[in-house]
Amino acid sequence: MEDLARRKLEALYLAGEREIPKNRKHKQETPKKPSTPGGGPASVMSPETILEELRREIGDCKRCRLCEGRNQLVFGVGNPGARLMFVGEAPGRDEDRQGEPFVGRAGKLLDKIIEAMNLTRQDVYIANVVKCRPPENRNPAPDEIETCEPFLLRQIEAIKPEIIVCLGTFAAQTLLQTETRIGALRSKFHAWPSPVVKAKFETSLPEGGIQVMPTYHPAFLLRNPNMKRPLWEDMQQVMARLVKKETP
Ligand code: URA
Repeated sequence: MEDLARRKLEALYLAGEREIPKNRKHKQETPKKPSTPGGGPASVMSPETILEELRREIGDCKRCRLCEGRNQLVFGVGNPGARLMFVGEAPGRDEDRQGEPFVGRAGKLLDKIIEAMNLTRQDVYIANVVKCRPPENRNPAPDEIETCEPFLLRQIEAIKPEIIVCLGTFAAQTLLQTETRIGALRSKFHAWPSPVVKAKFETSLPEGGIQVMPTYHPAFLLRNPNMKRPLWEDMQQVMARLVKKETP
């Protein structure tokens, strides 16, 4: 990924900026529904508190068979006020051991990608569709995804990122609720949540308020280094959009 580091300068130049504004200033407090049906004073909860409560609610999850083989549940990591969120597939062996997403070989590559975008892991939020490691790193099964995806949605509701990068087929197909292959989904933004997603999850997020950029999974890039270029082109679009939103 050395070419990424080199070309990040090119990307920043193209975006007309030296630095991407990292997090939103007004992100600390999120309005919550009024505590009484008739109105009353609206309480506020920070994204951080909402995530902590969600983590407590998931608890020592036994909602699907993946609990049988896992060491620990891998919830997510990063900045609760992040403008940019990455969503992967499921924890692997290293993530299952350490309790953090993307810490193995694919994670090291993701770190380089984030760094090449002039950001750090602390600037973004990283989560997976499925929170527990599938045995032998097999693909997550449809019913496992179905069980776990509401938690990803609630993470997104808490963080309210401006852009979500879906890493690979499972993240893209789950968030976009489609069976279209990643090669056809990537390289363009998808307004999210779509009406289909809103109907399925009954989310309070405004329709199309977040931009989803599907791209290749870092593990796929490790096996297919020639795919780094298309991934980087996708990330350049993400960077340009982040910069543009901040520039009046
Ligand atoms: N691959 C993923 O999709 N997620 C991880 O956390 C690690 C590898």
